[in-house]
Amino acid sequence: MAPIGASRITILTFVLAVSAVCAGQTPADHHVSADPAQRLFRASPFAHGYIHGYEAGFSMGTEDVQMGRGAQEVRKSAEYQSASEGYAAAFGSRESFRAGFRAGLAIGYRDAFSGKEFRALGELRRLATGVEGEAAVDRLYDGGFFAGYRAARQEAADQCQKAAAGRERFCSGFLDGYQLGESDAGAVTTARERSAAAPILLPRPGGRSAPRR
Ligand SMILES: [Zn+2]
Repeated sequence: MAPIGASRITILTFVLAVSAVCAGQTPADHHVSADPAQRLFRASPFAHGYIHGYEAGFSMGTEDVQMGRGAQEVRKSAEYQSASEGYAAAFGSRESFRAGFRAGLAIGYRDAFSGKEFRALGELRRLATGVEGEAAVDRLYDGGFFAGYRAARQEAADQCQKAAAGRERFCSGFLDGYQLGESDAGAVTTARERSAAAPILLPRPGGRSAPRR
């Protein structure tokens, strides 16, 4: 009897341990717990998603260069489709995180493929020095950050030419997002100039079709 009882306890302990892990206990995320830009990552799920996407895109780009492959259409990758790698509910809006992830993935890939440095973290840490307020998700700031990023990338109109009362947090985020978007727009231009003779968006060898642009 004793051995059976002991093994039952062992199995029970194991099941409980697995349940605890599966119950959604988020593994520590160094961006929000240890990085110098943690205030920004906590305030803005877009910025947090962006760095996750940038890291993923940069490693994809590095790998393609090392393997001597042509540039892939990042938007067709599984990473871009999911855009949730590393996401946890505590980070705030999943949609905002995913939007940031996709923007970061495309830029990170492009930076690596065109031989640039891993520059996103430096940019974000610089922006984070100006982030004020609670070190918690700030939906207004985050919405502004996303809008500002899109405006700088010329995907949306400028929404903060004059900061109205009650829009301060939004516009604070807008200006920070705008700076990141401007920096990325500059990087894209540089990459296009560098690759004018040899476009970087080539289909993969053996790819079925040319990428849409
Ligand atoms: Zn993170």
